[in-house]
Amino acid sequence: MKNQSSDRLTYLVTGGAGFLGSHLCDRLIGDGHDVICLDNFFTGSKRNIEHLIGHPRFELLRHDVTFPLYIEVDAIYNLACPASPVHYQHDPVQTTKTSVHGAINMLGLSKRLKCRIFQASTSEVYGDPSIHPQTEAYWGNVNPIGPRSCYDEGKRCAETLFFDYHRQHRLDIKVARIFNTYGPRMHPNDGRVVSNFVVQALKGIDITIYGDGQQTRSFCYVDDLIEGFVRLMATPDTVTGPMNLGNPNEFTIKELAETVIELTGSKSKLSYEPLPQDDPTQRQPDIGLARETIGWEPKLQLREGLIETIAYFDKLVSGEAN
Ligand code: NAD
Ligand code: UDP
Repeated sequence: MKNQSSDRLTYLVTGGAGFLGSHLCDRLIGDGHDVICLDNFFTGSKRNIEHLIGHPRFELLRHDVTFPLYIEVDAIYNLACPASPVHYQHDPVQTTKTSVHGAINMLGLSKRLKCRIFQASTSEVYGDPSIHPQTEAYWGNVNPIGPRSCYDEGKRCAETLFFDYHRQHRLDIKVARIFNTYGPRMHPNDGRVVSNFVVQALKGIDITIYGDGQQTRSFCYVDDLIEGFVRLMATPDTVTGPMNLGNPNEFTIKELAETVIELTGSKSKLSYEPLPQDDPTQRQPDIGLARETIGWEPKLQLREGLIETIAYFDKLVSGEAN
């Protein structure tokens, strides 16, 4: 196993043209590595990585992770999977296949290559949590047959596969449980709360709050998260995770809406719509393990991160208007 922090490595990033994947590609290229960015462009876009196309250490591969892949790399980041409820519920069977078959294919590749593999898991493995904040020891409260199950159970099964490959085949795995993350390059129509609210505020249309807006989320800025990925990936092979990565500062959805209105100076009004089924009522990561093991905690707080995000969407929305 090559040293993840010092050697020049070739990384495979699945889902590399997505929101998080494209920031990860930037970071790895910036650190002097070679990157093979794999994506089927279901929710990702060439726009997210167009600045990397033509870079001598960057390669783009159109491929679907539900099919096997034969390639030579030194390490794998497995991020391929739609992350927004609107997109993952669009074709739920494909969502489960992407998580499960995708994990099997990428784990098979990692087994053949004897290389380290990272899994982008999620706070959704905790479902609608009955303990608060959530620690990695909590097993979760997940509906196996609801509209969110394709994503939640797909990701849970992927974790199972990662740990079985680790126990059975001694694979060097790193499992991160990512909590709500936001920032530039989120898909403007992907339905996630930060992109929805920012775009609605910039367009001056109603801000759609689902339910009474008292449900909570804890929002992490993308740069902080990517730093967490890289640190977790560089840990010795005794560290497997699962490790929570997210910002522990918790806000109600109504507070988020009010902050977005304030920061954009928008005239948008709040409009209340029905709460989707199985929408978790609260979510906050306990990041004690990440603090202790990788010395990581988020640096950017919500207002600062929102300012960056608003600037990105402002350009995008005004570009659309022209
Ligand atoms: P995203 O939708 O922007 O990116 C996902 C990428 O995967 C897209 O580029 C998409 O085209 C690609 N993809 C989807 N299915 C594929 C397939 N079958 N084969 C190849 N590529 C495929 O979402 P994101 O926010 O960047 O999320 C990236 C990863 O992080 C996902 O696995 C997601 O579950 C996980 N995650 C994200 C968050 C978050 O808040 N952003 C939270 C928890 C977990
Ligand atoms: N939400 C909302 N209005 C929107 C989009 C989302 O009130 O326009 C709420 C949603 O019901 C949930 C929270 O915001 O309670 C976070 O939703 P998101 O889809 O971003 O992520 P997840 O539910 O997966 O955490």
